[in-house]
Amino acid sequence: MKSYQSMDHFWMPFTANRAFKASPRIIERAEGMWLHNDQGQKVLDATAGLWCVNAGHGRKQIADAVSQQIQTLDYSSPFNLGHDIGFEFAERLVKHTPAGLNRVFFTCSGSEAVESALKIALAYQNARGKGGKYRFIGREKGYHGVNFGGISVGGLTPNRKGFGPLLPVDHLPHTLDIERNAFSKGLPEFGIERAEELEKLLSFHGADSVAAVIVEPISGAGGVVLPPVGYLKKLREICTRNDVLLIFDEVICGWGRLGASFGSVKFDVQPDMITSAKGITNGVLPLGAVFVKDEIHDTVVNSAPEGQVEFFHGYTYSAHPVACAAGLATLNIYEEEGLLERGSGEIGEYWEQALHSLKGLPGIIDVRNCGLIGAVEFATADGSLVGPKIMQRCYELGMSIRAVGNAIALSPPVIIEKEHIDQIVDIFTQISREMFQAK
Ligand code: PMP
Repeated sequence: MKSYQSMDHFWMPFTANRAFKASPRIIERAEGMWLHNDQGQKVLDATAGLWCVNAGHGRKQIADAVSQQIQTLDYSSPFNLGHDIGFEFAERLVKHTPAGLNRVFFTCSGSEAVESALKIALAYQNARGKGGKYRFIGREKGYHGVNFGGISVGGLTPNRKGFGPLLPVDHLPHTLDIERNAFSKGLPEFGIERAEELEKLLSFHGADSVAAVIVEPISGAGGVVLPPVGYLKKLREICTRNDVLLIFDEVICGWGRLGASFGSVKFDVQPDMITSAKGITNGVLPLGAVFVKDEIHDTVVNSAPEGQVEFFHGYTYSAHPVACAAGLATLNIYEEEGLLERGSGEIGEYWEQALHSLKGLPGIIDVRNCGLIGAVEFATADGSLVGPKIMQRCYELGMSIRAVGNAIALSPPVIIEKEHIDQIVDIFTQISREMFQAK
């Protein structure tokens, strides 16, 4: 901290503000895989910021594109005015989406992408004369941002409770099952039957009252919860049979995180909409998007008389030209450097083997992984919470991670090399011995 700077004004999000003030962690600059803190320490960024800096920090190509764009067109109204870079970016993005998802609705964050997707689902049902379909189905442990729609469909108790009546939503059971699936490599074997719960919810409410189901292919903020083999395909099949839309929230799963452009591509399951953010600009500027199936877009747009606004929704900064420039430069890097597929190749295999080498160490009850996502789950003899202590110790040892309960979530920049993976494993080995080995 600089001596002239107080910590009395910035209310930090999702942070224990009082504890933070007592022992602040201040990052001054970042490059590649590394954060540099105010103590002169290099900290390995094992979470790519917040699942977003997939191409690594400090990419000059993105900085140059942003600077250039500000000098060319810094901003123009998004209502009834367009700009080339918005159209160009949308056209480039949909080259990476599953077939048929060719329309892009731009937002400024993942939370807004979720709100927009839920409203598009309702607008679609209305436009085709099915306005009675107004309910949503989410999933336990799901995270869909912090706005009211997102916390309604979300399944994390602390984010929901205390915020009053929410949207009419039911929740599928989550699919984390350490007892049956501990130390699975890739998708876990057991749990497909949990998709059948969707049939039950649909028949309980009547499918004619349900607009859409929303799930993350892999839940990140819920503690890296993987879909069992066949589970997502089963959800797709049930939604199609019941005329219910399926939305994949791919805010963390997109843009190379799983070794493909999207989880839906990797798992070969086609949703009706995909929400995206984070890696779409390498985290450099705020931008989110909803990728929408042509039929949904066409139905909504053709439902209004010619010349009238068809969908009363949008943001001042939708398709912000500077954010689009950052996104286009990011996409160029992903394509030129093969980063979207990188996690499916040799480095993804190395990641899997390295993380699973932690099996058997004291305190570690599960390791799970897919692409370049991973989680190491710890447990104490008395069931107490150790995640925050592990997070603090990791930081002291030069690594930034995210604790979700006692699960340590990992999502490094996709440019990661073997030496960084070795360092991650060494730190976990040391922590396991220090904190869990019987003395
Ligand atoms: N959906 C998912 C799956 C996310 O992981 C997140 C952010 N962690 C969001 C939505 C919300 O994104 P944002 O923080 O950009 O609003």
